[in-house]
Amino acid sequence: MPDIIQLLPDHVANQIAAGEVVQRPASVVKELLENAIDAGASSIKLIIKDAGKQLVQVIDNGKGMSQTDARLSFERHATSKITKAEDLFNLNTKGFRGEALASIAAIAHVDLKTKQENQELGTLIKIEGSTLVSQENISHPIGTSVAVKNLFYNIPARRNFLKSNSVETRHIVNEFQRVALAHPNISFSFYHNENEIYNLISSNLRQRIVAVFGKKTNEKLVPINESTDVLEISGFVAKPEYAKKKRGEQFFFVNDRFIKNAYLNHAVSSAFESLLSNGYHPTYFLFLKVPTKSIDINIHPTKTEIKFDDEKTLYAILRSTIKHSLGQYNVAPILDFNRSASFDTPYEFKDKKTVTPRVEVDPNFNPFKTEEQKSIRFPFKREKEATWESLYTGLDIKNIEVEVETVNTSLFNEEKTSTKTYQVHHKYIVSSIKSGIVYINQYLAHQRILYEEFLENITVKEATSQQLLFPLEISFNKSDIELIKEIKEDLESIGFVFDKILDDTIVIKGMPITIVESQISMIIEQLLEDIKNDIPNASFSQLDMMAKSLAKSLAIKTGSKLSLKEQEELVNKLFLCKQPDLSPFGKKTFVTINLDEIDKKFSN
Ligand code: ADP
Ligand code: MG
Repeated sequence: MPDIIQLLPDHVANQIAAGEVVQRPASVVKELLENAIDAGASSIKLIIKDAGKQLVQVIDNGKGMSQTDARLSFERHATSKITKAEDLFNLNTKGFRGEALASIAAIAHVDLKTKQENQELGTLIKIEGSTLVSQENISHPIGTSVAVKNLFYNIPARRNFLKSNSVETRHIVNEFQRVALAHPNISFSFYHNENEIYNLISSNLRQRIVAVFGKKTNEKLVPINESTDVLEISGFVAKPEYAKKKRGEQFFFVNDRFIKNAYLNHAVSSAFESLLSNGYHPTYFLFLKVPTKSIDINIHPTKTEIKFDDEKTLYAILRSTIKHSLGQYNVAPILDFNRSASFDTPYEFKDKKTVTPRVEVDPNFNPFKTEEQKSIRFPFKREKEATWESLYTGLDIKNIEVEVETVNTSLFNEEKTSTKTYQVHHKYIVSSIKSGIVYINQYLAHQRILYEEFLENITVKEATSQQLLFPLEISFNKSDIELIKEIKEDLESIGFVFDKILDDTIVIKGMPITIVESQISMIIEQLLEDIKNDIPNASFSQLDMMAKSLAKSLAIKTGSKLSLKEQEELVNKLFLCKQPDLSPFGKKTFVTINLDEIDKKFSN
């Protein structure tokens, strides 16, 4: 047998490495920003086009590269940051693996311009798919500019795998925010398709957090500071009443590097213990400084996961530091094992231990509602009026047949008009059908109804909206504002009317008639969260997502008591839906139990 093992050519090896380092445009953003920081820049500009798919460019005023270094920087394992294995345990730079530029250049068109302080002329290098296309001398200010164009141009499968622009932009904004928060002393600007998204001046951490997340953030922050032999902690947590239902604003930086760590996150959450109600997550911006020797960053190509020598100690220190700070700022009981917690609670907070940051919503409240409308508010009139008997017609499901006759009332003679539905445990609507019994889950069924109605309205774009008496101002962080701008038209098509969209605030002057004013901010927050977590590829699925999210937020909840009329209306509407048997999220909206099955239960 002949020998069959060969060494892979460099450009193939680079493409394979790129698979690990570069998942999406945001990965390029991260690598380039980190290189600029390692180069000692005090001012960094990020420019992207088409959510980074067309262009990601980072311009810095750092130390630049010599001509030879500029050429070498694209070789694999080419780095100026470590020279020997031991250096791995004493890292003060973001990069060290020397593979980012090589990987990026393997799968994109890259223009590198750079000049060092003592040079007269700078260098321009163009590389396409690992191949050097040209190299020339140019005039250039001190520093480096790396422009990465047409990412994945030579790997169509990866390019097609990229998500919608809003999702990719979201990832980029996340990376940008992480780097910007880790380095408040560096000024950053960020442009998308020529629009300025951020312009952050050099400042302290508090100012940087406020600049990134909006003015309102300032009042929420509780400072955290602690210094021990093994660990220094600084930064901020948000007061418990500002906790969020989404995990969004949780930042850990270890030696100025953003990391994800479920264990440390748990330490923070547990410090908030009784202060948060179920399902709420604390917001935090925490900086840990540990001896470089006590961590291993080299366990993951993107370096967002790191290993600590002694996680247990860090956990304990972190938890007690935050507990203590919350106590000092009168937002939590002070930790003292010898006394009951309430004893030590600052007086004015004594009775506030169970503060829930929940928005109390009465889904049935509507000041404009007239008496006879007091049923569940189904927003958009349907042409077809359902009759009870027509409920199950057209429904392609076995075992469901219309019970045309009224329910046998001989047992309940006093009840003249027969009751066709019955609500159990404020959760299910039960009814007799020819083949047996149907149990309808009111929450899931209403989701299906609202979902189809929203979809219909989004597609025909003629939803009815109600004017607000006073325009409503809601503040969001900048990246959420960007997202709102992107979905503005869709929101308008379901009945939202925007007065203004400012840098960190939106002003709403009209809303869909289905929604009550007090719900608006909760609904939009939920919607943004759902869009961020979703992975829509086409704009259609974004609309779909929106309809789903709104349906989920607005459906009558389990636990709501429904009048007979409401029950009937719900059932009628459900079986007029195109797909009545499933909720928008694919759960069964009803189950049936056949007479046979019931009979069987009595058979022995
Ligand atoms: P690493 O950052 O892991 O060293 P990279 O592939 O990201 O690997 O970069 C390779 C080398 O190119 C770096 O070690 C650095 O010397 C040089 N370099 C990259 N970007 C810049 C920049 N913006 N300014 C100055 N030097 C840079
Ligand atoms: Mg690097």
